[in-house]
Amino acid sequence: MLHAEGPLLTIDLTERSATRTPIDDVLEAFIGGRGVATALAHDRIPFDADPFGPENRAYLATGPLQLSTTSFTGRLSMTGLSPLTDGLVSTNAGGYLSREFAGTGISALEVTGASDELLIAHVTDEGVEFEPVPELAGATVPEVSDHVAETRDLGPENCIAIGPAGENLVRFASVMTFDSRAFGRGGLGAVLGAKNLKAVTFEGDSAPEIEIPDPPEMEIHREAATSDDLMRRQGTTGNTEFINENFSLPTRYFSEYEFESAAGIGGDAVEEKKYKKGACSQCAYACKLPTRDEETGVETEGPEFETVYAFGSSQGVGDIVDVMRANELCDRLGLDTISAGVTVAAYLASEDEFGNAELARELTEQIAHREGIGDDLAEGVHRVHEQLGVDDYTVKGMEFAAHDGRVLHGQGLSYAVANRGADHMYGGLLSPEYAGEIDPEGTLGKAELLVEHENRNAIRDSAIVCAFASGHITDERLAALLETDYEELLAVGARTIERERHFNNRRGMAADADDLPYEIPDLEDAIQEYYEARGLREDGTLPDDRIEPIAADLGTDDGAAASPADD
Ligand code: SF4
Repeated sequence: MLHAEGPLLTIDLTERSATRTPIDDVLEAFIGGRGVATALAHDRIPFDADPFGPENRAYLATGPLQLSTTSFTGRLSMTGLSPLTDGLVSTNAGGYLSREFAGTGISALEVTGASDELLIAHVTDEGVEFEPVPELAGATVPEVSDHVAETRDLGPENCIAIGPAGENLVRFASVMTFDSRAFGRGGLGAVLGAKNLKAVTFEGDSAPEIEIPDPPEMEIHREAATSDDLMRRQGTTGNTEFINENFSLPTRYFSEYEFESAAGIGGDAVEEKKYKKGACSQCAYACKLPTRDEETGVETEGPEFETVYAFGSSQGVGDIVDVMRANELCDRLGLDTISAGVTVAAYLASEDEFGNAELARELTEQIAHREGIGDDLAEGVHRVHEQLGVDDYTVKGMEFAAHDGRVLHGQGLSYAVANRGADHMYGGLLSPEYAGEIDPEGTLGKAELLVEHENRNAIRDSAIVCAFASGHITDERLAALLETDYEELLAVGARTIERERHFNNRRGMAADADDLPYEIPDLEDAIQEYYEARGLREDGTLPDDRIEPIAADLGTDDGAAASPADD
């Protein structure tokens, strides 16, 4: 089976040291990306770690396909202990970083410790340099990019960076790359902020050689370049009105299911503002959405469907320019648009201010700087809902994505049991339910399919393949690209998910964390079906003997001992 190549680079910010460590066993067992990062995180972050403590670790990992010319592979995956969910989260971002990252010759980056001053770490194929940057305190993401361009002649594609939100430990702060692409969910920006790490740059010419089988690679590329999917023109916003009319577009903080102004923020409205094509590295599908409003001069990349929901229907805002402004603001400040938009919507609900887009922007700024009420909202809906007097629309502390589990019951089950919380990219029964392949009504009998989807998504995030590639990088093609069979890939996905669950179990999360804030049919029984299909105990825990640590004690290139997790 093909897998990522190269050592793990550990950066210890307390010591300002860097160590390269071979991790061949981990790469062979987990491919790359989310799988490798999850295995490392499980074995090396202490189970009792404070998400904001120096003992937490953040991982950035590539896969075997990121050096190929295969469309849909220009992405990287990031993992760590989340300050939002208090469990492991993985999140991935597109852009152009994946090739720069691989050029440094490593397969994964581990960031541990904490600096006593704000730093940028510059990673090259020759080593790591630490640059104190006190002058960048409070800087926005584009300001960090400007600094890196001026001082190193590097572009935003060479860089991950946090904005003021990460520095201020907003629990849903994102890590940004290419200024507009977000490692969005779960607050890993705040993990870097707690470590006083403003940015990391990557530059090098030492990428490992990985030979990708030819036929599927070329076929995928040709199809991506010639596809006439609506998604190529409108990105994820293409189905906004279809979903609103036929299922649900959560509106005014979940008080309604349908938004009367969906046309004002949907796919056509976004396409009207699109002024050029946008893509990720090597991707001929080019579904990104650089948009501009000529009248106001507002310019951003996006908004994607989730932002249209979070800063649009959820807030009762029906003008796409307002959603574009919010999108640009979140990217600049380093905020996950879903959690930020839904948290702002919760505040608007409490003050009866739906539709007030200007207030929403003020609140977003206040959240990033933890000013006024923004200091409370920066904790997220789960921690602030009682103060606001609104319902807690979260799972495991994570704000819901748009696809409404109250209508798509299999998706609701997926949200309830997902180790990451209420995120649509984790299990995703939404696709077969929207498509009518399975009845959206009811939860029973869906657990085995959910397990398969979760495993498949974990492989996708380990390989790393874009979620929008499903019609083109089929299961068979992915197996062919990785020179293995699909059953073996599913086993990798299962191993990854088991480690997430086991880590969360050891932090005290079990069946009581697998729940929804609303009722759907037979949820309790469906969760038990899921536990059975996943081989969990009735209390939602994974037996310890199912987990064989693989990365706790790593020998290092220089003979030093890399620190294992405290078990
Ligand atoms: S399909 Fe779209 S999001 Fe995915 S890699 Fe290609 S351009 Fe990026």
